[in-house]
Amino acid sequence: MIERGLLIVLSGPSGVGKGTVRKALFEQEDIKLQYSISATTRRPREGEVDGVDYFFKEREEFEHMIENKKLLEWAEYVGNYYGTPIDYVEETLASGKDVFLEIEVQGALQVKEAFPEGLFIFLAPPSLSELKSRIVNRGTETEDLINNRMRVAKEEIELMDAYDYVVENDKVENACARIQAIVTAEHCRRDRVSARYKRMLEVE
Ligand code: 5GP
Repeated sequence: MIERGLLIVLSGPSGVGKGTVRKALFEQEDIKLQYSISATTRRPREGEVDGVDYFFKEREEFEHMIENKKLLEWAEYVGNYYGTPIDYVEETLASGKDVFLEIEVQGALQVKEAFPEGLFIFLAPPSLSELKSRIVNRGTETEDLINNRMRVAKEEIELMDAYDYVVENDKVENACARIQAIVTAEHCRRDRVSARYKRMLEVE
């Protein structure tokens, strides 16, 4: 019998560095997680490849996926749809491999409803001032937009209670090491492994 893989969800407030941490994690050679590529209606940025970074969709196609229940979760974020194709997640978990999602907070809450047994990791900023400087440094946003993003980020930090672990993103490599350690520990949990040992005893 194949033991199901773990569903790992990395989420956290806008601007905290989820994308950067995820990319650094998947650049590591020993990584054994399978990244779930999201679908989105936003246009590709320079260098992004369809089927690698995202599955880029038209709004109509995306709405079709929603209607046909092809998404595990979805959310509208800054005017675009983002969602997780469900078939890949189900098939990969059934094959015994861990699936890794990097999604915004509304989507993470939906996954929690569908997969309460998942591993939910909240990426937190070292401080609010640090978060603000990251949002400001990101580019050309107006004062109003920055204040609005900060307000949303504060509300998002309050959603931390729905998560199993909090990883501070003080430095990308530290955040990656913490995530790897959490996944390793999770695989050693008694409630995950005891059935395997019981089966072993039955055979003896
Ligand atoms: P970006 O447009 O910068 O690639 O992503 C914007 C936001 O969408 C990020 O916070 C990212 O985590 C989130 N995101 C990416 N894929 C998904 C997804 O499949 N579902 C949800 N809910 N959020 C996603």
